[in-house]
Amino acid sequence: MQHVLDPTLADLKTWMTDRGQPAYRAAQVRRWLFERRAADWSGMSDLSKPIRAQLAESYQFWTTEIAKHSRAADGTEKLLLTLADGEQVECVLLRDGIRRSICISTQVGCGMGCVFCASGLDGVVRNLTAGEIVEQMLRLDRLLPEGDRLSHVVVMGMGEPLANLPNLLAALGEASAKNGLGISSRRITISTVGLPPAMRRLSEHTTHYQLAVSLHAPDDKLRQKLVPVAKQIKLDDVLAAADNYFDKSGRRLTFEYVLLGGLNDRADHAARLAELLVGRPAMLNVIPYNPVSGLPYRTPTPAATSTFCTILRRAGINVNVRFRKGDKIDAACGQLRRLSTESEGTGKRPSLVQIKDAAVT
Ligand code: SAH
Repeated sequence: MQHVLDPTLADLKTWMTDRGQPAYRAAQVRRWLFERRAADWSGMSDLSKPIRAQLAESYQFWTTEIAKHSRAADGTEKLLLTLADGEQVECVLLRDGIRRSICISTQVGCGMGCVFCASGLDGVVRNLTAGEIVEQMLRLDRLLPEGDRLSHVVVMGMGEPLANLPNLLAALGEASAKNGLGISSRRITISTVGLPPAMRRLSEHTTHYQLAVSLHAPDDKLRQKLVPVAKQIKLDDVLAAADNYFDKSGRRLTFEYVLLGGLNDRADHAARLAELLVGRPAMLNVIPYNPVSGLPYRTPTPAATSTFCTILRRAGINVNVRFRKGDKIDAACGQLRRLSTESEGTGKRPSLVQIKDAAVT
């Protein structure tokens, strides 16, 4: 059965008129989905019972089930969702002042293979459909009390968003549409490992979102060790595609750098990174590594983090360190799904992990 989030508004209008209903009923259905937070078909109280029954026969309202819902004292909430085929993905709601940011996934697993990341340890299983991406947003939106609205979206959950570009763009279209979630495209950030052809396609898209590019190293040799997909992609090409995105969109870029103790956190790494970034209209998010169980990497010492950032700042780079949020709820994307698969039947408790609040504006 088709997911109700997959047909366009035009498709839904045709569905209504085919059944002798006025076309505007399609917009009513969308309002219930996106604005009025209906929990199921029966909640759509201004549609007649027979039409609700027919909708239920044609379309599935939810395709996911909430397998786990965790809440942290700081207001962060995380959902582990089971998809129709039994696969699992995660998504997170972060509360910060008046901000209500969500972090969503675009794939089951990830094919990029970054050595320190939990999402890619078992490779990529499949792309999420546009409906499955939108459903994460609607599930998280329904965690908010009435009157409270989502303000920011970061596509920094599981997967490489630009490896699933058509479905990502369809889903973000719903996030930014006035008759969707109505979130400004300036408050929607896509994080990529840096795939130049897809970055160029993104720059040609009618809506420009914020782009964050994961660097993690100041040279190709080290980057290829940390980000295996970089064996085919030169850092210069990633930076050129990022510059092109800025030229086309006017959106200030963000670069990300996961700081791994003893690996890419030395003073000379910082100095060379500064050389790469100086003069670019960009900001740098330095993310101290979140430990992943079973991986040998270390979180950098506070002193190393501080020295690293000071060198960059002295060179004129705009640096932010992303500290932990959502402690105690197993909140780094990719980790909860993995722990859920690993600990099945063993009763093992997941370890404490972290997530970062990476919204840009
Ligand atoms: N595929 C996209 C989105 C990944 S998640 C990308 O590569 O950008 C967003 C950020 O979290 C990326 O910069 C990613 O490298 C980083 N990340 C992944 N695992 C991490 C970990 N264990 N600790 C800290 N940051 C991590």
